[in-house]
Amino acid sequence: MVTTATASATVHAPDALMLVGGRWVAARSGATFPSVDPATGAIVGEAPAGEGADATLAVDAAHEAFASWSRTTVHERAALLRRVAAILGGREGMLAELITAEQGKPLGEARNELRFCCHLLEWYAEEGRRAYGQWIPDPLADRRLLTMRRPVGVAAAITPWNVPASMVVRKAAPAIAAGCTVVVKPAEQTPLVALAVARAFDDAGTPPGVLNVVTGGPEPIGAALLADVRVRKLTFTGSTEVGRALLRASADTVKRVSLELGGNAPFVVFDDADLDAAVAGLRAAKFRNGGQTCVSANRVFVHHDVAAQLGARLRALAWELRVGDGRAPETEIGPLVDRRAVEKVAAAVEDAVARGARVLTGGSALTEPPYDAGSFFAPTVLAGVHSEMRLVQEEIFGPVAPLIAFDDAREVLEAANATPYGLTAYVYTRDLRRALRMAEELDVGMVGINDTRVSAAEAPFGGTKQSGLGREGGREGLDEFLETRLVALGLGEPL
Ligand code: NAP
Repeated sequence: MVTTATASATVHAPDALMLVGGRWVAARSGATFPSVDPATGAIVGEAPAGEGADATLAVDAAHEAFASWSRTTVHERAALLRRVAAILGGREGMLAELITAEQGKPLGEARNELRFCCHLLEWYAEEGRRAYGQWIPDPLADRRLLTMRRPVGVAAAITPWNVPASMVVRKAAPAIAAGCTVVVKPAEQTPLVALAVARAFDDAGTPPGVLNVVTGGPEPIGAALLADVRVRKLTFTGSTEVGRALLRASADTVKRVSLELGGNAPFVVFDDADLDAAVAGLRAAKFRNGGQTCVSANRVFVHHDVAAQLGARLRALAWELRVGDGRAPETEIGPLVDRRAVEKVAAAVEDAVARGARVLTGGSALTEPPYDAGSFFAPTVLAGVHSEMRLVQEEIFGPVAPLIAFDDAREVLEAANATPYGLTAYVYTRDLRRALRMAEELDVGMVGINDTRVSAAEAPFGGTKQSGLGREGGREGLDEFLETRLVALGLGEPL
């Protein structure tokens, strides 16, 4: 691990307001809460501490706007989404600095996140135009059956902090393309990014009430959104624990629900794998965003014959990674999102070591200058890991690579599937038959074969088992915001 330059000055965002019904407003209580820079501990800005009443006002606005937005043409919706993409693209530098200041990821990764936002907006601008219905062959001579796709209604979008801009866009873009209106409740660690994204929508001419953002504490806002019968759709990204509670709470009003939840991705390296490619894959899938992604490689299964070699290569990689403030141009790993996250990762590593894991490099929080004001954890590689350890069973959400040796394909397949999660898996092998069989039998929503890039605006992203319900991205991402309506048309007597 290499230390990068200390922080340049923290970005100070102007104190933000929420977007409700086309107006930028404070919380009704007037209260605010601070957003904290995880690299320096400095306050980035204050966000309104919205509550249930603020959320209800946003639903009022979204409900009213739905009547007219759902009647707009697909061309109007597409044009709006393209204007938002152009504005976000034009603000990439400023917004990337804000993402890095609030969330911590290196500036280059923040820029990539914003480019992904633009891809999503452009894709859904197009895909909204293809929300086709069907003409169904009818068993009756005097009737015709057809279907049309209708927007679900008001959608509540609850988003996490780890990809704070693209999570808002990945929900808002398909919803708006489908003709829905949206109320977003972003994570408390990254409210200012969500508000800056909303600013781009507003500046692009989004009609009042089509996109609303309410910042603040989860329970009051969540409860108001979920209890409201006018909210017809919940789209949530976050932890499995919270997702489960929101699914339960949605039952009372029988909302449509999409859940993008936690992962526990296996990263399987067979003895015939291209080890250069596997190490490059682990660099991305393990250390990008400091390991704080739902598709992060959580368990690295490596064949016994190449385990020592991969361990040494990974140790060297982790040792050379440059850790520091995300604004320093050479930084490859920034801070974790807050000190609580550092404590959680440290506890998982301590548990593994107590149960016999060996630390090849790293292994602890970074608390000495220049890291002392922030929340940093050393890139870590552990060997001798086994299934009893907590970090094998739970999502680590930090820069820790646990190596687990295996002997044969059946054994590793069973171990890989032995988790309640099913989001992503990665397989590195040169044997095409083995790669395809693994892709068929791994119980996950996405499989990367000799590649870790499983996310694209054009492709469905989501999990099986307790990693979620539904898909985001691609055609499937639009379907989540559409209902199918059957029309039975009586024709009477033939002409
Ligand atoms: P989290 O604690 O579940 O929070 C996610 C969002 O839910 C935040 O906005 C949070 O608000 C809100 N929330 C929490 N409790 C709530 C409640 N009772 N009612 C309404 N809203 C509530 O997750 P996180 O720590 O932010 O994000 C990390 C998790 O997200 C990881 O498990 C990761 O795997 C998962 N994730 C999944 C995907 C995917 O596509 N599958 C993508 C990214 C992340 P507050 O911030 O105000 O608490």
